[in-house]
Amino acid sequence: MSGFLSRRHSRLSPYVPGEQPRGGDFIKLNTNEAPYPPAPAVLSALTSGAASRLNLYPDPSGTALRSKLAEYHGAGVQNIALGNGSDETLAFIFLAFFDGERGVMFPDVTYGLYRVLAALYNIPYSEIPVGESLAVRPEDYVGVRKNIVLANPNAPTGIALSMDDIERIADSNPEYIVVIDEAYADFARRSAVPLTRKHDNLLVVRTYSKSRFLAGARLGYAVGHEALIGDIETIRCSYNPYNVNSATLEAGAAALESGEYYGERWERIISVRDASARALRGLGFELTDSEANFLFARHPEVPGKALFDGLREAGILVRRFDSPERIAGWLRITVGTDAQMDALVRALAAIIDTEVKNAKK
Ligand code: PMP
Repeated sequence: MSGFLSRRHSRLSPYVPGEQPRGGDFIKLNTNEAPYPPAPAVLSALTSGAASRLNLYPDPSGTALRSKLAEYHGAGVQNIALGNGSDETLAFIFLAFFDGERGVMFPDVTYGLYRVLAALYNIPYSEIPVGESLAVRPEDYVGVRKNIVLANPNAPTGIALSMDDIERIADSNPEYIVVIDEAYADFARRSAVPLTRKHDNLLVVRTYSKSRFLAGARLGYAVGHEALIGDIETIRCSYNPYNVNSATLEAGAAALESGEYYGERWERIISVRDASARALRGLGFELTDSEANFLFARHPEVPGKALFDGLREAGILVRRFDSPERIAGWLRITVGTDAQMDALVRALAAIIDTEVKNAKK
């Protein structure tokens, strides 16, 4: 049965996640997950206790985990709001702060969910074109007197703004909310969280999905001034007061105590990223300067779709976006293990060879 979707949602065009294949033996480089399991302490938190307590509701305020996060970030419990993935945190923020009067702006090349959330909540939005190099131009956001959402590093380009730029943007729009989505910030080795202490209008959104290797657990959070966090909590408790399950709450706390495990693997991901970028440049690819756990690349002679299809045939999944048109030729490639990236480079070399030969026939 269809046709009952309320009229205000009839033109929604929902977010389309990357493929999560059910069968088949794919090398999965399409959704920016980590190629490593969560830390051993996280696994034991999940198996020793959390599961047997699933008959009880979780703590609706998630205080134990929020205290740990507060300590990790040098903030207070009142500065942290938890979400079921940072997608939910973003949804709470859009619902809490943006409306028909105040709208919101973000880059035209960025995380696709921002546009979807704005449309869902009927929030007017403007998409600001990124520059020629696909980098966000910070001056486009200085003193604009608008609510702003920026992913830093940006997705799918991986290009990051400096902390000075972020500060300038927050400072020059004091009456408006500036959201910095730091899904990939651990791979750029810098964070705007300390700036939230100085700038009451700055909200930083973070996730456990990428750098804590817990995409399946669904855990995200916002850090900011307690007044903003209080507003997010009002929305959260009006929407889904038990939004984070108890196993995930425990996993999240354990992950923060495994700093060494994660730190070593972040370094590994960063060095594989940089080595893979060099290998792709060797094949003639043009790349953005990604500081995330993925690369963004295009080949001057072979269309993005041919590369994407050829890789899929070779059992390697990557991501490609049809819009905006400007990035249709580009592939976003999650950084996997050394062996996975070697397989990727070999497969791309073979595809390019065939495509270029075919083009010359
Ligand atoms: N922000 C950005 C920039 C992302 O790329 C993603 C991952 N799709 C998210 C937020 C959402 O991540 P999660 O909901 O898994 O925390």
